[in-house]
Order: sequence, then structure tokens, then C-alpha cells
Amino acid sequence: MESLNTTMLRIHSFESAGTVDGPGIRFVVFMQGCPLRCQYCHNPDTWDIHGGRTISAKEMVQEILKYENFMHFSNGGVTFSGGEPLLQKKALLPVFSELKKQHIHIAIDTAGTTDIDETTVKLLEHVDLVMLDVKHLASAEHKKLTGLPNNRTFDFLSHLKKEHIPTWIRWVVVPDFNDTEKYAQMYADFVKQYPNVELVEILPYHQHGVYKWKQLNIPYPLENTPEPSKILIEKLAQILEQNGIPTLYAK
Ligand code: SF4
Repeated sequence: MESLNTTMLRIHSFESAGTVDGPGIRFVVFMQGCPLRCQYCHNPDTWDIHGGRTISAKEMVQEILKYENFMHFSNGGVTFSGGEPLLQKKALLPVFSELKKQHIHIAIDTAGTTDIDETTVKLLEHVDLVMLDVKHLASAEHKKLTGLPNNRTFDFLSHLKKEHIPTWIRWVVVPDFNDTEKYAQMYADFVKQYPNVELVEILPYHQHGVYKWKQLNIPYPLENTPEPSKILIEKLAQILEQNGIPTLYAK
């Protein structure tokens, strides 16, 4: 296994007191690198695996443990987001293993676009909560929205089910892609097949990251897409809840 002293990771940034990335107060590690190219991405500056900065696994653990007290007081923990944290799954192994020894609650925010190989299986053994982005149920639409089909995400979710790993599904509602009541019912029917899913978090598409696309000189594809209304989000949440699926969304 990779060792804590010699392993290097590439990160975008840290956030010391996140409140929207899992239960309690979270220390959030934004990992660098992502294989997807979501049209609505609000962190395009995390895409390049050669960008960001490097940090040793040991330094990362030390940084996280500085916040141990508030994590425990708030029933929080650490969340690995990005970017796509699983792109550096091998390097994350010694970090997760050490954090688990220190009884830190570990969540990952991922699109699950990785193979279920030995490293993935081992890494997930340390994970307390997976926040999985299911960006579109139809593979062709998923590809249009993100650049890749959804088969790996689905395989990943099947593995989480098999291993009974607590999972929150994240649904970013994008007008003209996945925002209809009919789609909400399909989403509910899909989620019902996974008893390990504790809730669905509904996140309305927003344009907060557009300035980053401009800074990076990349044309923003959803320039003319409006943000969905609160009323629509409530309606979609209602459909999921009528199907017995707890939801989380900003009220
Ligand atoms: S998976 Fe996340 S970081 Fe990657 S492109 Fe999509 S929104 Fe951006």
C-alpha cells in the first residue's frame, strides 16, 4: 500500500467549515482533476489533473486533524469533493486509512466514474457516506450533459448497494435536461431499487461558476439556461417524497 510519508496528492483547495457537503460541519477537501465535463460545472478550475497544487498524504491528514474537535462536536467529518476524488483513489488510500484510525467520519462526493477494482473496493471500506451524483438516467443524455455515459456511475451504485454503504444521491436539476415531473417519477422508481440510499438531495442548477469559465476562456454552454424555480424544485421533491424517498433541498 502507498505510504503516508511518500504519497503525494494533487488538490485544488480546502474549506474548513462546509455545511452543505454531508452531515454536521465538514472539512472539505477539493481534489484536483475530473474526467467529466459537466455543462454546468461550477468548478472547471478543478478539471486539469496537472493543475492545483501538490501536498503529501501526511500533510493532508495533519491539516484535517486540526479540525477534529469541531467535527466531533457537530457530528460532522471530512468530505472529499472536487473535481472527482476517485481519480486519485490510490493516493487517497493511506489518507483514508489513517483518518479511520482517528475515528473521523469520511464522506466522498463523487460521480462514481471509476472502475470497481481492488483499490476502489479497499477505499470504500473506509467510507462512511457516499454522495453520488446521478446526473442523468438516460446514458445518451448523460453523455450530452457530462461528456461520458452513465454506465460506470450505475455500476458504482450497484457496488454500494451490495456493500450496504450509506449513500445520498445528488440530482442537479437542469432545465430542458432533467426537470420534468415525469423524470422525477422515473428518478423515484430508479432510487427505490437501492435500499442503501438514505435520501436524494435536489440541487437546482445555478450559474455561480460562470465567471470561472470566463476566466479560463472556455465558452459556457448553458449561457441561456435559466435557474429552475423554487416551486418546481418543491414539486419534484414532493414526487420523490410521495414515493417514500426522503429529500433534501434548500427551502
Ligand atoms: S463531476 Fe463535478 S467537477 Fe467534474 S465536471 Fe462535473 S460538476 Fe465539474
